[in-house]
Amino acid sequence: MGIYSKTGKDVAPLLYKALIALQHRGQDAAGFAVCDGKNIEVRRGIGLVDSIFSEDDIALMGKLGVGHTRYPTIGECRLCDVQPSVFGDIATAHNGHIANYEDLKRELQAEGYKYTSTVDSEPIAFLLHRNKDLIAGVKDVMKSAEGSFSDCAIVENKLVVFRDPHAIRPLVWGENADFICFASETVALDINGIPYKGEVKGGELVIVDKAVTRMPLVTKEPKHCMFEHVYFARPDSIINGKSVYGARKRLGETLAREAPVKADVVVAVPDTSRPAAASYAAALGIPCEEGLIKNRYIGRTFIMPTQEKRVDAVKLKLNPVREILDGKSVVLVDDSIVRGTTLREIVALVRAAGATEVHLRITCPPVKAPCFYGVDMSTYEELMANRKSVDEIGKFLGADSLAYISLAGLKLSLDLPLCTACLTGEYHTDYVRKMAASTKRSGCG
Ligand code: AMP
Repeated sequence: MGIYSKTGKDVAPLLYKALIALQHRGQDAAGFAVCDGKNIEVRRGIGLVDSIFSEDDIALMGKLGVGHTRYPTIGECRLCDVQPSVFGDIATAHNGHIANYEDLKRELQAEGYKYTSTVDSEPIAFLLHRNKDLIAGVKDVMKSAEGSFSDCAIVENKLVVFRDPHAIRPLVWGENADFICFASETVALDINGIPYKGEVKGGELVIVDKAVTRMPLVTKEPKHCMFEHVYFARPDSIINGKSVYGARKRLGETLAREAPVKADVVVAVPDTSRPAAASYAAALGIPCEEGLIKNRYIGRTFIMPTQEKRVDAVKLKLNPVREILDGKSVVLVDDSIVRGTTLREIVALVRAAGATEVHLRITCPPVKAPCFYGVDMSTYEELMANRKSVDEIGKFLGADSLAYISLAGLKLSLDLPLCTACLTGEYHTDYVRKMAASTKRSGCG
């Protein structure tokens, strides 16, 4: 998130609200930096946004700022690893993952840069710094850093925003009479009453000072991460110009055409797959019911560090409604299967609540290959579809049937130029291609 006040208003309260709205994108830590025209003040902490910042923090003065919620794909989670990364008069926060972080780290260390964290926004700050000219600095990031980065930075008292050439992670912008604002999703604009205006394009640089300057620096084929519309983003957001809710509804309709099933009831695995379950059920004329209730105070369970903890976490998070499931054949609609831990437990819960049949319908094709572009699944080993066939997965999960949406069905439903590397194993950048091949060869992936 990055924000600039055109009328000299303080931005910290808006940053705080935006981070609350973006909490689902990272639950480990959060931070923000504001600039009063001279100094950069940073506040950061470990945990959820509403537990980190005090009233004094939110009262900090400054008419431009950047903020971040952390979902680590690299590095640790100590206070020093919480973005924004600050170096001199540069503060930078990015959504994404720098795949060649280690190489870049060595290169910058050789030039004398001293790392204070393990987070990949720090080399971005150094790359901006090593070029005395701002535009040259951003060009350097686009050339030297491979991976995904939707970046909001404070540089020389300006708000500087840029997106990797393939536009992998989302980056929207909005404006009203007082503010111009950039964020991963439109929910961050909505919460601040700032109308959505559009997207920052892949390879584009935007500098916001007294005027707004937009510069296309690099043009490459867009490759938007399909997982954003499938799972990651909030349904009430618009990203890459498309409603997330609408995309999930289309995924459900497509799945109904591709993999219909006769059943008594359709149940969503809450929350992500709700719109898809509703449209799947409507297309087949089957009732859609809330057969699983989610404890709203428990976060996303994939974040738990070990397999056993994830299993426990499913029980903490979900409870079945026996009245809906007992004696019924049930279609469970879920967004995706990554490791398969969650769904196996859910199928067992649904059967224990009396379901006679459990059919699984998944709105994402099998995830077979690691992501090096910002979703934290970095080994072949951990991915269930890399090791097992669809039939074997269905059996492992304890389902009567299992069907995934096809790749063509996904593309049709999202209707965007997509990165589908985790589904096909075909990566669109050189470094990552080599990285994936060596991970596979070494067997440690
Ligand atoms: P799993 O138990 O690994 O099959 O995943 C359960 C749920 O968590 C699914 O909705 C996945 O889309 C989601 N999920 C799994 N791994 C990740 C990850 N690394 N980042 C974000 N979401 C994930």
